[in-house]
Amino acid sequence: MKQLLMIKYGELTTKKANRNAFINLLTNNIKSILKEYTIAIKKDRVRMYITCEESDCSNIVTKLQKVFGIHGIVICHHVNTNIEEIETKILELVQHQLGQTFKVETKRADKRFPISSMEMNAKMGGFILKNTNLKVDVHDPDIRIHIEIRNEGTFLYTNELEGIGGYPVGIQGKGLLMLSGGIDSPVAGYLSLKRGVDLECLYFESPPHTSIEAKNKVKKLASIINQYSGNIKVNIVPFTKIQEAIYQNVPDSYIITIMRRMMYRIAEQVCHQHNCKIIINGESIGQVASQTLDSMVVINAVTNLPVIRPVACMDKLEIIEISKKIDTYETSILPYEDCCTIFLPKHPVIYPTMEKAISYENLFNFQALIQEAIENVETITQLDETKSNYL
Ligand code: ATP
Ligand code: MG
Repeated sequence: MKQLLMIKYGELTTKKANRNAFINLLTNNIKSILKEYTIAIKKDRVRMYITCEESDCSNIVTKLQKVFGIHGIVICHHVNTNIEEIETKILELVQHQLGQTFKVETKRADKRFPISSMEMNAKMGGFILKNTNLKVDVHDPDIRIHIEIRNEGTFLYTNELEGIGGYPVGIQGKGLLMLSGGIDSPVAGYLSLKRGVDLECLYFESPPHTSIEAKNKVKKLASIINQYSGNIKVNIVPFTKIQEAIYQNVPDSYIITIMRRMMYRIAEQVCHQHNCKIIINGESIGQVASQTLDSMVVINAVTNLPVIRPVACMDKLEIIEISKKIDTYETSILPYEDCCTIFLPKHPVIYPTMEKAISYENLFNFQALIQEAIENVETITQLDETKSNYL
């Protein structure tokens, strides 16, 4: 048996000029996320219709609920256009719905069918009243029963399932997400994907000071957010030599400031090499010493690329709420040490100055170290959450 799904587009319907590009990209994204299923897609400017095997339907709906650009998903039931079949299906549908009140809304596109839409509403309404305990409410019903009578048969559906909205991933091109093993950066990545920015990830590792588990945790996090994209790659930067050089040369209080300037410099170069337009990270104003506005000014000064911080103005609790919703939280709180925590000074500077930052980092040849790190970036291209066994 085949099943039909109707897709309602998200915010893209308001972007008139770009609508075709949006719909085409959304179609490609849907095809790629459903590549293991046999489906057929038809689309117009307001709706998309996906035909699939009935047995795949619930898995497909779950996947579609992670596709940005979809506002609503409707499971349609296809029957032959005859009253008996329509009535049987309607009864089956309303029995699966919670609520006390209903309304029937008929659209008759196939004018060969002799009963008008209004008459059909009344006829089916009467049938439901007689066979269930439901009552009619035409203004604010709990259950809306839609009947669409078309040439290919009759399509029935009740309430729609929510999509996650946003813009189709990739409509904005790509950003480079600085992905650590913490709570904030996966959330920052998710929020960027929601605005249509596809991602590559950048992770700084410092073996042997950081463990293989810490690296696997980052891969796991990337694979979770990859469910919203399908394209995400992870670039791993060997950061040990740079961190050791900082540790040996820079006064304690400036270690984090200088380390983050190095991270931004590397991120900028990777952006250029990998066609990423912006840097994205999980910094949140005031969260730690390196995220005061003064620190941000000094750290940000090493790059001209826009640095987008989607969680900059959120409370930690708000960030945690999103991370639980997107299922990264449990992985993020695993206790493996990150390169930011291993060399953490007791008293990091809260109000760094540009002059001091520049003078300290000139105490060693950081350009050569950065060059070497970039030449040795490892890129992971295959991330699949369902198959991953990272942890
Ligand atoms: P937490 O959720 O514990 O705050 P975090 O990931 O936010 O963890 P921070 O020390 O606050 O860690 O770092 C701020 C941001 O810098 C991160 O959100 C991330 O974008 C980036 N970052 C930090 N460490 C790394 C790293 N090892 N590799 C890549 N990006 C990093
Ligand atoms: Mg943080």
